[in-house]
Amino acid sequence: MTDMSYLDGNMLDGPLRELFAVDLSAATGRCESCGTVGPMAGLHVFSHAPGLIGRCPACSEVMLRLVRAPDRAWLDLRGSTYLQVPLPMDQPYPPPL
Ligand SMILES: [Zn+2]
Repeated sequence: MTDMSYLDGNMLDGPLRELFAVDLSAATGRCESCGTVGPMAGLHVFSHAPGLIGRCPACSEVMLRLVRAPDRAWLDLRGSTYLQVPLPMDQPYPPPL
């Protein structure tokens, strides 16, 4: 990695909102490489790649890749052990069938 400039993870909200109906900036992710747990908004996002690359702020490993085409998108979360998404308490769980 020669170019160390990156954007704040908050900029992922718009592109990811297209895929998910919840605010993912408040979601928590765990880095598969170093185990760091933190908000997705804390990722270091590199936009000068084929798509968006989100790197762990602690170890710089890739936790998220998002590529957008005119009619589809690819979301690759390899590098993230999990993504924890807060949901409003007023939604029934489990959802009714
Ligand atoms: Zn890490």
